[in-house]
Amino acid sequence: MGVSRIPLIAGNWKMNLDHLQAIATVQKLGWTLQEGRHSYGADGAEVAVFPPFTDLRSVQTLVSADRLDIRYGAQDLSAHDSGAYTGEVSGAFLKALECRYVIVGHSERRQYHGETDEVCAQKVAAALRHRLVPVLCVGETAEDLETHGAAAVPVSQLRAVLETLQGEPELVVAYEPVWAIGSGQAATSEQAQAVAGALRAVIRELLGDGVAEATRILYGGSVKSTNIAGFMREPDIDGALVGGASLDATEFAAIARFQKHVGV
Ligand code: PEP
Repeated sequence: MGVSRIPLIAGNWKMNLDHLQAIATVQKLGWTLQEGRHSYGADGAEVAVFPPFTDLRSVQTLVSADRLDIRYGAQDLSAHDSGAYTGEVSGAFLKALECRYVIVGHSERRQYHGETDEVCAQKVAAALRHRLVPVLCVGETAEDLETHGAAAVPVSQLRAVLETLQGEPELVVAYEPVWAIGSGQAATSEQAQAVAGALRAVIRELLGDGVAEATRILYGGSVKSTNIAGFMREPDIDGALVGGASLDATEFAAIARFQKHVGV
């Protein structure tokens, strides 16, 4: 965990929890974090949830009414801002719901919806146009790991997007080995650190020292409250993208309170 970067614990709900279940889950998450005297800054992590699109308005209303220290974002956005794109959701609409983040290029989108690096670059550009912080996911499959090693594919996916950017954009990078997602088989913290370090080097090369030091790099893939501490001890890992374990407010809050057991 880098000293100057506020850790981010992000929960990707995928296609789970309708808007009523979202209200109950965010309410419980809010209470649990408050009970644990969760706070941002040097002692605390930023907590964000990524519900389905149909939940976002309910989450916005709840977070705003109860002044919860919880951020939220969408799991995807359109590369386009408006027009004849049936079924797509514009970054402008997400911004209007006060989303702070948006996930781009999750491996499930790359795998099931054919999202290429080029599409991911367009979506990152769309997010930045609407002042949303893109959480760009990169990661290798088990086959990639065997053929090319761990870092080659995520580094090339990140490079493809960063080469299209200019200036000092705020973005988050999530390293998610595809073989670790939903498998119960997390990477070791050493494996994750090796790739996170390589990703930070690419950010440095293409966008400079300032962006490299400011950008949070998350690890994702079977993160739980029992393994988060190991990841958070690593110098280039600044948080986690959590899938299954984020559906349970108690478990997700326990992950967010990793400082209690990280020993740093
Ligand atoms: C994910 O969906 O991005 C993810 C990392 O899932 P899980 O934590 O369930 O492996």
